[in-house]
Amino acid sequence: MKKAVYPGSFDPITNGHLDIIKRAAEIFDEVCVAVISNPDKNAYFSLEERLQMLKEAAKDIKRVKVDYFDGLLVDYAKQKGFESIIRGLRAVSDFDYEFQMALTNRQMNPKIETVFLMTDYKYSYLSSSIVKQIAHFGGDVHKLVPRNVARRLKKS
Ligand code: ADP
Repeated sequence: MKKAVYPGSFDPITNGHLDIIKRAAEIFDEVCVAVISNPDKNAYFSLEERLQMLKEAAKDIKRVKVDYFDGLLVDYAKQKGFESIIRGLRAVSDFDYEFQMALTNRQMNPKIETVFLMTDYKYSYLSSSIVKQIAHFGGDVHKLVPRNVARRLKKS
């Protein structure tokens, strides 16, 4: 049984994240989408809100679970039996950070492999921050995020 974790802030989940989740679920027997509960990172939505939005958005995708963690990702992965870490790659701008994180995680635990899935071109420009900016100024985000997230953003 191949289990993978897809970690991130998901503040909030976008259609770009959802695309990575669906594709990862075709490759692995179980995919756990794990929200980083890092109190130092200034999140717009609370951990509970981010988890709730993720659960709703991913409820119909088979083999997908939602969880959260704090502390080191490799420790969490080892504890839960995840052999792979999934990350999405957009433009070159993601590469430096992802490269550093993947190598650092490998240095800490060589048994856990980071697997990169390339973004779909439709979502290559899409980020949680862009979505929040558009929503903040009253713009329409329904093509960028799952329906439940668009509703939630409208309220905030
Ligand atoms: P983090 O704060 O860990 O970067 P994010 O929620 O921003 O968390 O992203 C989680 C993962 O999803 C990262 O690997 C990021 O590169 C990837 N990702 C974010 N947006 C997209 C997108 N539009 N297409 C593909 N991958 C994406």
